[in-house]
This record gives sequence, C-alpha cells and structure tokens, in this order.
Amino acid sequence: MRVVMKFGGTSVGSVDRIRNVAKRCVRRQAEGHEVAVVVSAMSGETNRLVSLTKEFTSDPNDRECDVVLSTGEQVSIGLLALAIREIGGKAKSFLGHQVKILTDDAFSRARISNVDGAALTECLSNDTIAVVAGFQGVTDSGDISTLGRGGSDTTAVAIAASVNADVCEIYTDVDGVYTTDPNVVPEARKIDKITYEEMLELASLGAKVLQIRAVEFAMNYNVPLHVRSSFNDNPGTMVVAAGENMESVVVSGVTAVTSESKVTIKRVPDVAGNVAKIFKPLADGGIVVDMIVQNVSENGETAVTFTVPTDDLARAEAVLQREAPDIATESNIRTDQNVAKVSIVGVGMRSHAGVAQRMFQILADEGINIQLISTSEIKVSCLIEKKYAELATRALHAGFKLESE
Ligand code: ASP
Ligand code: MG
Repeated sequence: MRVVMKFGGTSVGSVDRIRNVAKRCVRRQAEGHEVAVVVSAMSGETNRLVSLTKEFTSDPNDRECDVVLSTGEQVSIGLLALAIREIGGKAKSFLGHQVKILTDDAFSRARISNVDGAALTECLSNDTIAVVAGFQGVTDSGDISTLGRGGSDTTAVAIAASVNADVCEIYTDVDGVYTTDPNVVPEARKIDKITYEEMLELASLGAKVLQIRAVEFAMNYNVPLHVRSSFNDNPGTMVVAAGENMESVVVSGVTAVTSESKVTIKRVPDVAGNVAKIFKPLADGGIVVDMIVQNVSENGETAVTFTVPTDDLARAEAVLQREAPDIATESNIRTDQNVAKVSIVGVGMRSHAGVAQRMFQILADEGINIQLISTSEIKVSCLIEKKYAELATRALHAGFKLESE
C-alpha cells in the first residue's frame, strides 16, 4: 500500500512526541508500505507566529505574513526527518515549493491548484519516507503561501491524491469522529465509518477533527480518509464514499454550534428584489449567511431572519444599514447572540420519513422552543436558546439512540 500519514501540532508538540511519530512512520513502512508523512507546526507555534505578525500588520492577505507563518512547519519536517534517521530509517523533507504544491495568491487562505506528485513518487520508490510540510504552498510567481488555519489536513489529502495513495491517515488527539462532543455527552460513541457528505456536515457544524476543505478535497478525488489516534493503534473512523447499507443508519451525529447570531429585519415590503437587496451587501462583505427564513407576509410586509457568525455580526449590521438603508433601518433590525444551532446529520434521512418530526418532539419534550429550522437532504438544524445547547445535544443523542450500536 501507499500510505499518507498526517500528524497535527499536538502530535509533534515536543521532542519526545516527534520521536514517537518517527517510530510510527518507520513501523508503518516496515509493514511493507510506502510512506509519505505530512506534519503541522509544533503545537502553539503557528499561534505564536500569527501574533508576531499582528505586531506589524492587520492585513491577512499579506505576502510577508505567509513567509512568517510557514516557518513552523519547516522546523517540524526537518526535526522529523532527523528523528527518522536517528532510528535507522531513511527520510527526506519537502517544503511546499519542493513538492511542488501550487496555489493561488490569496495569502493566508490560498487554494491548491495543482500538486506535482513526481518528486514524492521518486522519493517513495527509493524506500525513503517523504516528510512534507503541511499548510504551505507556492504561487505561480514563486511566493510562499499558506492554506488557512488547520490547512495541513488539506495538504495531506492533496498529497495523497497526487501520489495515488490508498489511504490518507489523519492522526490526531482523539480516537476518531464521534457521534457528538464527548465532553458534552460522555456516552458519545466513535463512528466506524461515515460518508464524506456526513463528515462535511459534521465538520462545518463544529466537530473540529478535520479541516472542511480537506474533506471536500477527499470527496472530489475519492481519497479514503482514516481519522485515528496518534497515541494508540486502535482503528479510528473511515471517511469514504457512500456505499451499500450505509443508509441503514438514519442519524450519524448530533452537533451544536454556539458561534452564530440571529438577525431579524422586520417590516420588509413584500415586493420582488427586497430579499436580494438584503443579502447583496452581506455577500459583498464576505459574510457567510447560514439559516434563512422569510415569514408569510401580512399587510404587504414580511420579516426576514437569518444567522451569521457572531464575529461578523457588528459588520453585518453596519453594511446592511449602509447599503440597504430603506429596508434595514435601525428600528427594523433586531439581533440576538443568545442562540445555538443544534443539528442531526445522517445519509439515512434520505430514505426515512419522520426524522425531523422526531427531532422536534425530542426538543418539545425538554420544553425547548424552536426559533428557526433549516434542512438539507441529510441534515436538520434547529435554532434554540443558547442555554439549552447542551441539554438539546444530550436529549437528541439519547433520543436517536446513538450511544448503542
Ligand atoms: N500549523 C497550522 C495551524 O496551526 C496548520 C495546521 O495545523 O494544520 O493552523
Ligand atoms: Mg491542526
């Protein structure tokens, strides 16, 4: 097999831990596999580098920031290659431009446009472990770029696609993907197998195990992912394309997000074009809108409610009042930060009736009022009062019997 292994910052957070990673890579190779390994910066390092750059600029799209931010991974790959050699293995480190991982020039959040698999493939066929810097790439003009926080996951998947790896193993500080946050629900269970689509929903809803873009990339290139612990050998969670009998599981996971706020615009004249007018300035401002509801109109007026990241709330209010002054007047806008979005996710919903109703009943039985609802084919989300987030998560997890196989 050809295996790409990815270790995050915690897994390479100290000299001892780097030695452990080295052992694991050498062991994997000794099992008869070709091994490429992608690592992040040592834990805390990228944060430290970010705060250093903030001393001098607040512009995230700054070429020089990426020069600084990318250095953490350079240290990790050099140290890991040395550690592998120390125990008798063969290893060679690769920076983004040495691979080469080509990206656009959106510094701090660059997107990968192409990965050349040739240099890595040659390294692998020499029985040498390729040690690749996560999170970084190179632009057409040769500038260093970074892929956004958590970007090493995406590097690993992109590398795996480029060398046609059989699996991309994401080693992390948890055992896999859980049915919900085990800190909230101790009965949460590790999921053995999940589809890319479900993982995307869970990732975007706050299960912070994998960068969302990494999952998208894996889905597009059909790279099987294995999310597993860097501290033990237990099998983790396989993230794969939907296959037979995966639809028998109706609900795979429950998530709660408390980082969004609700915005309501009242007394919106119910005529064509007004909703577009509301969302245009938000779109132009790069503000990601999540749930959207328009009320039935009464006397020619309606109310439009939606959610935005709380971090963007003040900006959303400001651009609305500036760009849509006739609709979003100060007295018409209401905002509420005191909300949480709880969601159930599962591919089996496509073929099962009554799933949403069960969710509403479970919330009702707990006396939790639902403010907004949104659905997709494989997800139902309800906006509720923030203080009920954990109660709702526990009730839904139990109500959908996620703790038992
Ligand atoms: N070191 C980078 C970060 O902290 C990339 C990563 O860890 O995936 O965001
Ligand atoms: Mg990370």
